[in-house]
Amino acid sequence: MDIKVEQFMAPIRAKNPSESEFHQAVREVAESLIPFIEEHPKYKHAKILERIAEPERIIIFRVPWINDRGDIMINRGFRIEMNSAIGPYKGGLRFHPTVNLGILKFLAFEQVFKNSLTTLPMGGAKGGSDFDPKGKSDNEVMRFCQSFMTELFRHIGPNTDIPAGDIGVGGREIGYLFGQYKRLRNEFTGVLTGKGIQWGGSLIRPEATGYGAVYFAEEMLNRNGNSLKNKIVAVSGSGNVAQFTVQKINEFGGKVVTLSDSNGSIYDPNGIDEEKLEWIMELKNIRRGRIREYADKFGCEYFEGKRPWHIKCDAAFPSATENEIDKNDAEILVRNGCKVVSEGANMPSTPEAINVFLRQKILYGPGKAANAGGVAVSGLEMTQNSMRLPWSREEVDKRLYTIIKNIHQTCVNFGAESESYVNYVKGANIGGFVKVADAMIAQGAV
Ligand code: NDP
Repeated sequence: MDIKVEQFMAPIRAKNPSESEFHQAVREVAESLIPFIEEHPKYKHAKILERIAEPERIIIFRVPWINDRGDIMINRGFRIEMNSAIGPYKGGLRFHPTVNLGILKFLAFEQVFKNSLTTLPMGGAKGGSDFDPKGKSDNEVMRFCQSFMTELFRHIGPNTDIPAGDIGVGGREIGYLFGQYKRLRNEFTGVLTGKGIQWGGSLIRPEATGYGAVYFAEEMLNRNGNSLKNKIVAVSGSGNVAQFTVQKINEFGGKVVTLSDSNGSIYDPNGIDEEKLEWIMELKNIRRGRIREYADKFGCEYFEGKRPWHIKCDAAFPSATENEIDKNDAEILVRNGCKVVSEGANMPSTPEAINVFLRQKILYGPGKAANAGGVAVSGLEMTQNSMRLPWSREEVDKRLYTIIKNIHQTCVNFGAESESYVNYVKGANIGGFVKVADAMIAQGAV
C-alpha cells in the first residue's frame, strides 16, 4: 500500500461517500501521478490533483415526464462539469437505470484526461439520468428527452458545455434533445455532438469510438511488429462501440467470435462477418432486441448471464460497461493467450484485473486512451459546425487515425519503462494530466 496515495485518497473518500466508482477512477490516476508530481513540485504546490478531483460544478435536477398510459414518471438528471481549463466542458450523456452521482463523477473525471490526450481544446464533463430507454416507446423517449433538455438547456451551449451520447443515448436521443434545445433557445448551434448528418453531424462520428479502439490496438501491436490480422477477437457489448469495433476488426483481417448484452453473450467460432453485423445493427438499433436472438438465427452458442471472457482469444475489446472484467476474467484471458486488451468501454477492468495485465506485461490500452476516438471526432464535429463546412468521410477518418496515433505516441513518451515495454496506464494518465495541469497553473487558483 502506497502511503502517499492513501493520504491523498482519505479526504476524497470522506468527502464523496458511497461513490465507489469515483474513488476507483481517482485512485488509479493518483497511483500513476503521485510519483510524477513528487518529481515536479510545481504541480504539488498548486494542488492540481486535489483540484482536478473536485468538480467545477454539479447540476442535479428533476425530470418529470408522462408515459403512454398517462402516468407521471419522475427521473433524476445530472450534469457534472468537471474541468474547463483547456476548453468548454465536453462529455457524453448516459441514460441507464444504474446512473448515479458516483458513476457520472468517475466518467467526468476520466473524460478530463481523455479529452486532453486528443490534443483538441475540450474540457471534461459527463451527465445523464437513471431513465431506462429499454422497453419505452419512441414517444416516451421523446417526451423524456424534451423534459430533460427543458432543464439542461440553461446550463449548456456551444461555447460552454457540449454533451454527446453514451450508453442509452444514440442518434435517436440526440435528435430529440437537439430539437428541444433549438426550440427553447431559438438557435441552431453545435450544442450537441453525434447529430444526424443532415443537421450538423459529422461523418464517422457513430463509428469513431469503435474504430479508434481498433486503431489503438493496431498501434500497440505494430510497435511490437505484430498486427490484428488473423487474430481471434472477443468483443463485449453489442451497442454503438461494439458494432463499429467489429466492423473495423473485420477490415483489419481479424475474426470476432463474441458479443454480449446485459443478459448474456454469444460465441460464434465462424466469426461475425459483415452480413451478420448488418443483422445485429438491425436487431439492436431498430428492433431493439436481445443478443440471444443471434444464437437462434445463426445457430451458435449463447451463454445466459455470462460475459465473453472465458472464450479463447488473442485480443479482447471490452465495449459494454465499467468493471466488466474482474481479476478472474483477466487471469482466464491471459491464460488463454490473450496478448492485447483495448478498452472501448470506460473503466471496464477492475483494479485487480489491471494489475494482472500489467504484471503479465500484455499490451493493455486503458479506456481514456483507447476509446478517445469518439470524443475526438466529436471535437471534429464542433470544428465543422464552427466552419459551417462538412468534411468527407475520408478526411474525418484520416484525422481520427492521426489523433489515435498521437495519443499512442504520448502514452509511449510518458509510459515507456524499457525499450520493449510501455505501461499505457501510466502513459495515458501522465500524458493527459500535463496539459490540463499547466493550463490550471497559468489560469491561477480558480
Ligand atoms: P450502447 O448503449 O450503444 O451499448 C451498450 C452495450 O453495453 C449494450 O450492448 C448493453 O446491453 C451493454 N451494457 C450496458 N450496461 C451493461 C451492464 N451493466 N452489464 C452488461 N452489459 C451492459 O452504449 P455505447 O456502445 O455507446 O457505450 C459502451 C461503452 O463505451 C460505455 O462504457 C461507454 O461509456 C463507452 N464509450 C462510449 C462512447 C461513445 O462514443 N458512444 C465513447 C467512449 C466510451 P443492453 O442492451 O442489454 O443494455
